[in-house]
Amino acid sequence: MYTAEFTYHQASSLSDALAQLASNPDAKLLAGGHSLIPAMKLRLSAPSALIDVSKIPELRGIRLEGESIVIGAMTTHRDVEFSDLLAQHCTVLPQVAALIGDPMVRNRGTVGGAIAHADPAADYPAVMLALNASLKIASTTGSRVVTSDEFFLGMYSTAVAEGEMLTEIHIPLGARAAYEKFAHPASRYALAGVAVSVNNGTFRAAYTGAGEKATRITKLEIEGVTSTCQRLVNSSSLIGDAFASTEYRAHLIDVMAARALARVIA
Ligand SMILES: Cc1cc2nc3c(=O)[nH]c(=O)nc-3n(C[C@H](O)[C@H](O)[C@H](O)COP(=O)(O)OP(=O)(O)OC[C@H]3O[C@@H](n4cnc5c(N)ncnc54)[C@H](O)[C@@H]3O)c2cc1C
Repeated sequence: MYTAEFTYHQASSLSDALAQLASNPDAKLLAGGHSLIPAMKLRLSAPSALIDVSKIPELRGIRLEGESIVIGAMTTHRDVEFSDLLAQHCTVLPQVAALIGDPMVRNRGTVGGAIAHADPAADYPAVMLALNASLKIASTTGSRVVTSDEFFLGMYSTAVAEGEMLTEIHIPLGARAAYEKFAHPASRYALAGVAVSVNNGTFRAAYTGAGEKATRITKLEIEGVTSTCQRLVNSSSLIGDAFASTEYRAHLIDVMAARALARVIA
């Protein structure tokens, strides 16, 4: 199916993109297009304008800044997968990126696009929660930083408001983390995925693919190293579909959590 008609603007800088966004409330940002374009073709989304932010140099790259790693929102999954800096300081992220879709998706899809889209089965949101990441959001009036706990509001819903865009992901250094997912064999999206991290003896964990949004697993965080990873999540809080029932997804969360926890404490 074809998309509805739209105008296209290739933004040359962050300020250009934000000015365009402020002047057209109906516009949508185009990053890698791997979620937006299919939605437009299915007419689930019909913005009158697209602002292409994928080629803005200041939004792409991975750097160390103080006690954090900063990832530009337009950094592709492939950049993450092959980043030497991440291989040295945050090994879980290249591992996660390598599990996303296929090479085409990883070449064009972006970290910022995936996090801002907040697909309930996307991989990064659970990892962001486990890593206690912060997200920088900008508009023409300035910028603000929110925690990952404040960022993911619901299915495809985040703290990014009208006229704003996600510009950077900040990951505190020092955590050891692992991510395990049970992937749908066709799409590679998670039927259930669990990220676990430990930093100075404090555990954080989150699941994706099984509910309305990525969600912290408090039981595992409290039990920490002693967790037997059994009945971590009540199946009544999950979503079932033709691929997996709520009970099966709850079971998958236990299994993925046990594997991730074992890797973290190994
Ligand atoms: C076949 C296939 C398999 C996939 N498998 C997986 C998988 O296994 N795991 C996984 O996690 N994902 C998977 N994906 C999704 C993939 O990771 C996409 O790259 C991601 O969902 C969206 O990123 P994008 O850069 O393509 O964003 P786009 O599609 O360009 O944008 C998505 C949405 O986010 C908005 N947006 C984009 N950037 C910003 C920003 N900086 N600030 C605010 N809003 C913004 C857009 O306006 C749009 O609404 C798959 C996709 C496909 C097509």
